Formats: sequence, C-alpha cells, structure tokens
Amino acid sequence: MIVVVGETARAANWGLNQSLYSQARDTTPELKNLQVINFPRVEACGTNTEVSVPCMFSQLGHHRYNESAIRSQESVLHVLARVGVRVHWRDNQSGCKGVCTGLPQDTTDAKMTPDLCAAGRCLDGALISDLDVRLAHAQGAQLWVLHQIGNHGPAYHRRYPPEFTHFQPACQSDDLHRCTLNEIANAYDNALRYTDHILAETVRKLQAKSDSVDSALIYVSDHGESLGEKGLFLHGMPRAIAPSEQLEVPMIAWLSAGLDAARGGISGCIQREFALAAQKNLSHDHLTHTLLGLFDVQTQARDANFDLTQACPTTQPSRQASGS
Ligand SMILES: [Zn+2]
Repeated sequence: MIVVVGETARAANWGLNQSLYSQARDTTPELKNLQVINFPRVEACGTNTEVSVPCMFSQLGHHRYNESAIRSQESVLHVLARVGVRVHWRDNQSGCKGVCTGLPQDTTDAKMTPDLCAAGRCLDGALISDLDVRLAHAQGAQLWVLHQIGNHGPAYHRRYPPEFTHFQPACQSDDLHRCTLNEIANAYDNALRYTDHILAETVRKLQAKSDSVDSALIYVSDHGESLGEKGLFLHGMPRAIAPSEQLEVPMIAWLSAGLDAARGGISGCIQREFALAAQKNLSHDHLTHTLLGLFDVQTQARDANFDLTQACPTTQPSRQASGS
C-alpha cells in the first residue's frame, strides 16, 4: 500500500476534475491514460499542513476534531504497525507532524539522488527513485507513505524540472507580486503536471510488479491554495472563513487486480466501492478508516461510515488491534 500525501494541490486545477471544474486545464495528461479512480469531491481537514496531516491520519478526523486529542493519540500508522504492517514514512517536506513518531522513516537526500536535488531541496522524483528496488524486495503487508513537496508555494516554479514547463509564461520568481495571475497559474499548473507524472510513474511501477506484489495507491492533497481569487494567495485561512480553493483537494486511487484476493475478499469489490464513492462527497476523514479497512484491521477505532471498503467483507481472520 502506497499513500502519497500531496502538498497544496487544489481540486479546481486538477485535470481529472474537468467534469466538475470546467476551468481546470490538462494538468493530468499521464494519469488520464491509466486506470485510476478519481475522487472529485474531497474536502480537506484544514487549510495548512500542520492541521491536515495529523488530522488525516487520525481516527478523529474533522468530524470529531480535537487538536490536543489528535496530537496525543496514536495515528493510524501506529495502529497498523502494531498489528504487523510494516510502515515506512518518506519525507520530501517538513516532516510527519508526529504521525510517524517512532516508526521507520527517512527523508529525501541529495546524496542519494543528486540529479533531483539542489539548494537543499529535492524534486518529488526523489521519493520514488528506488521504488523498483523496494518492490523487488517487498514481502508481507506494508504501508509506504510518501510526503510530497508537491505545489508548495510561493516558488511553484521550483517544484518541477524545466521539461515540465508546459504552460507559459510561468512565474519564475519566489515573490508572487512580481508575476501576473496568469504567470502564477501557469507555474502552479506546471507543478501539478509534475505530480501527475510522479503518480503515474508510481502506478506504472506497481502495475509492472502486479504479478508478484498485490498493491494499491491512494493520493490525496493536504489542503488547497488560493491563486488570487478574492485577492487571496497561498493558504492557511481559518477554516471557518476559508475559501473553497483552500479546502477542496484532489484524490485518486489505483488498485491492483489481486488486491481483493490478497485481503480475502471478493474480486473487484473494492474497485466497485471506490468507483461508487467517487460520486459522493468525501473528506480527509475517509483516509484513516479506509486504510484500516484495506488492511482488514478489527478495532473499535474503525468507523464504518468513513471506510470505503465497508461493503467488502473478508473471509480470512482479520488483524486485531486492541485499545484505540
Ligand atoms: Zn501543506
């Protein structure tokens, strides 16, 4: 299982969302040719990384939001690790905000991927540079979280390699005041096209190994971004008054054909349930409970209302997690 935590990607600019957001440009040219499920209606827990990342990996989520409780409780990653899932967090950003404390983790590093890193920052390609090797050695139930730099602003132009400069002219400044709205949007959408490429590469690598590794990928962004609407830029508005651009985020999933069987379920069930869920309003709250469902963990923390695998029972003994 690979979870990609996106950064600052907003639903309104996600190419796969064109049916809902007609203004979205073609920012997902690679994913649209793959068998991914796109969830066009997903609401973030918060408008910044500090709130959203702990929240999306918490059993409380937004519907029972309590910042101190979320910070003091185990994350779903800890629960999964306790029932035997090998969890690994790889960071290309500002850390896991307590979500992966004490669990195996690493950060992208210029020593490992010199071609993808400059001035203390790595492009997101560094997150998957060794994916083939990791898949070749994968055994048992594993969850790999990849935390992107994604569309982190204001220097959107630093988030993609030059060959991804598709929309032009793109803002080349770290100071948004020096660029027009059009130039800012161009740089932002170019960065989305690089995320499209990273996700598509990940899916293609999982697909290539699907005869030996049953796998799934979920991508969801942590929050959105304002690109000049109502005179606002960047993100972090208090949630109660935040514009939709900062709260509506892209989310996709890809499932290998063998996933249901590996879980002891009926073939095609999760694919069907995810496709049905794509018609509904979802939120970050669905991530934790769906992960518990995908790994078939029986715990009182698992809430059927937010578990997209709920309608897909398993026949093999479930993983049991005691406590919270
Ligand atoms: Zn963020």
